[in-house]
Amino acid sequence: MDFEPSARSEAWRRKLQAFFDSEVLPRHRAWLDHVAVERGSAPFVTELQAKARARGLWNLALPELASDEPGTRLSNLDYAPLAEIMGRLFWAPEVFNCQAPDVPNMIALQNCATPAQKQRFLNPLLNAETRSAFGMTEPDVASSDATNIATRIVRDGSDYVISGRKWFITGAAHPQCSFLIVVGVTDGGAERTRRHSCVIVPMDAPGVRLVRRLRWMGCEDHVAPIGELIFDNVRVPRENLLGAEGEGFKVAQIRLGPARIHHCMRSIGLCELLIELMMVRASERSAFGRPVIQYDTVQRWIAESRVELEQARLLCYRCAWRLDQAGHHGAWRDVSLIKLAVPAMLQRIADRAMQVFGAMGGSEDTPIHQALAWGRLLRIGDGPDEVHLRQIFKMEAMPRWSIANSPYLATHPA
Ligand SMILES: Cc1cc2nc3c(=O)[nH]c(=O)nc-3n(C[C@H](O)[C@H](O)[C@H](O)COP(=O)(O)OP(=O)(O)OC[C@H]3O[C@@H](n4cnc5c(N)ncnc54)[C@H](O)[C@@H]3O)c2cc1C
Repeated sequence: MDFEPSARSEAWRRKLQAFFDSEVLPRHRAWLDHVAVERGSAPFVTELQAKARARGLWNLALPELASDEPGTRLSNLDYAPLAEIMGRLFWAPEVFNCQAPDVPNMIALQNCATPAQKQRFLNPLLNAETRSAFGMTEPDVASSDATNIATRIVRDGSDYVISGRKWFITGAAHPQCSFLIVVGVTDGGAERTRRHSCVIVPMDAPGVRLVRRLRWMGCEDHVAPIGELIFDNVRVPRENLLGAEGEGFKVAQIRLGPARIHHCMRSIGLCELLIELMMVRASERSAFGRPVIQYDTVQRWIAESRVELEQARLLCYRCAWRLDQAGHHGAWRDVSLIKLAVPAMLQRIADRAMQVFGAMGGSEDTPIHQALAWGRLLRIGDGPDEVHLRQIFKMEAMPRWSIANSPYLATHPA
């Protein structure tokens, strides 16, 4: 396996880095000033989007683009170094139309939508004319077990009628969110994994109610604000079914693989920033007669962070490569591996960075507290770690020897 960036990836990385340095990073302070007083992304993001798009830096995360769809065709592996650049600022992905949950929703629509659905729902997303959400989790059931999802989707003539409650739905509280993909039960009598379907529900359909906006560990998601929603006998036409009836989990899985790997790619970029922050801060502060960076403990934290980051990056690249080679099914195990490795690493590195910064590390002057919260979120948000650990354990093969007759041990047969 050769994970050196391809010439194509490297060319796009340079282009993106130049744009990031000249157009995005200089606006970061203004963005922070904006969100300190107002909810939601800063208005100048639209202007930056137009510039990015004019330079081809658009929809970079969509390897399966059809020829008539706007954007840049990159494989997952080629996209990884670009996602790292965007991951350094929480709001940067939006400039390039690469933000969650819209990208995974685009991928679900590309793979599962009818031509009419693509025209109505996918095209506006590809052009950043609208925003979207994905509604699976419910307050009343343990949603880590997706078969528990209880929202009802009942056929009634030429419509589906939807009733239920969803929460922690990223992007649903965005003022421009115009639709969400809802997972619910269409056939309660079917086998547990065939009971659910996905339907596309416009946010302005009568009966859809945004109950409240949620924050995570006190952090506001300004790019894709999180919502709790009630569906009170919401009626949508049957042509809003996404994929086939009973295939709700299949649609969900098509979007979940890319959703998880993109989160990991961006988190790796964020960890690079955290290491840089530690280096600078520790070299600028002196305690007990010498710069903090000269203390073994601090050097060790930085070196350990580097080791962990390089390991995680390689695992992430291999996962991206598998996704490119073998699709969602072929990469499933690798997705679980990085989904476990990267958020835990992010938490550890953010924790070290916070310690190096002292009190300032927990303040809003640095992104460290958000990085810590983000790492913590990813250990639950993309499916709790425990569920992935179980999957990984199940794929572990039992060796064909016993302890008594192992060729590797000094034991003797009875
Ligand atoms: C900030 C944020 C954004 C989110 N965005 C979205 C979104 O856009 N759309 C969406 O649908 N959902 C979203 N979620 C919800 C997320 O996917 C769920 O929280 C997650 O799937 C867990 O479901 P739950 O909260 O119901 O926890 P539960 O299912 O109640 O699980 C609680 C705990 O039980 C334990 N557990 C569960 N299964 C096992 C097991 N097999 N073995 C051992 N222990 C186990 C784990 O410790 C787990 O954390 C978001 C969550 C957060 C925090």
